[in-house]
Amino acid sequence: MSTSVSELVVSVAEQDDAAGMVEVIHAAFGARPPLDPPSTAITETPASVAATLASGTGVYAEVAGRPAGALLVVPTGPGLVTFARVSVHPDFQRHGIASALVHAAEELAARAGHRRVELFARAEFGQLITFWEHRGYVVDRPAPHGVILAKDLPAVVVVPTGPAMQDLGERLAALLRPGDLLIATGDLGAGKTTLTQGIGRGLDTAGPVISPTFVLSRIHPARGDGPALVHVDAYRLHSAEELDDLDLDATLADAVTVVEWGAGLAEGLAEDRLEVDVVVRPAPDADDDLRLVALHGVGPRWAGVDLHALRGHRG
Ligand code: ADP
Ligand code: MG
Repeated sequence: MSTSVSELVVSVAEQDDAAGMVEVIHAAFGARPPLDPPSTAITETPASVAATLASGTGVYAEVAGRPAGALLVVPTGPGLVTFARVSVHPDFQRHGIASALVHAAEELAARAGHRRVELFARAEFGQLITFWEHRGYVVDRPAPHGVILAKDLPAVVVVPTGPAMQDLGERLAALLRPGDLLIATGDLGAGKTTLTQGIGRGLDTAGPVISPTFVLSRIHPARGDGPALVHVDAYRLHSAEELDDLDLDATLADAVTVVEWGAGLAEGLAEDRLEVDVVVRPAPDADDDLRLVALHGVGPRWAGVDLHALRGHRG
């Protein structure tokens, strides 16, 4: 069978999807080698899946209108969720559907304010454990017949407007210190520069933060005693060597450095970094799209910083 991925639709599961999800779960778990003890997935019914969706949420995938993937998101504690029944219909394997399910589920869980995912994998399925490890999950502890894998979710802030994006930048600035490196990703027009404008306002730095057309890097000195803001647009850069030519090393230690389009290029600049990923999503009841800003700290600098405190603020 050949099915184009363009026919793949991944959506937040609704009650009506429960029957399709059970079809996928039964087909996927039925196709796996027999286990001892057997998985309880086969006992799922449309009613049991609908009940789980009612207390949590889920992700459902269809390919050309046929049930293709299912994943249940179940709250298990404060800020904590598990993913269960992660299934791809055997007819639709190797289309990247599992990755799409996990990606969507992580976004859903993070948007709902959850901080961490823990999930169970059977010890028999080494490949499955590898699948999760490739997506940033680490084996946290043993569990009967398998292991618990875990991943911390980024703090996701829902940002409805441009001014709200500046406001988020301003509040983020209050957490920043000299030496901090921020790597911002997101499509053109997502709001990376708008966020950086707010950071400049929060740090009280001089000069308007604008999208550089020819200038790749601009230094905005502090008006007070705080750090300068170094704003870099790496859109036109193709290698870490070209980034080296900007001499960011010279200012890095004393400034706050924000690199737009820096993913894959700027990680080597510092030991720690704050990854800021801006994505555009349709707003349920407004004309304008909204933005999701996912904040993820890497390295010891960010270990104790509560980025989730930036959520849920109405400015
Ligand atoms: P980028 O630097 O990611 O290419 P910009 O910040 O330059 O994006 O542009 C974002 C544009 O989208 C601005 O014109 C901004 O006013 C507009 N906008 C609309 N809604 C939002 C929002 N929720 N967050 C950020 N920008 C928004
Ligand atoms: Mg920009």
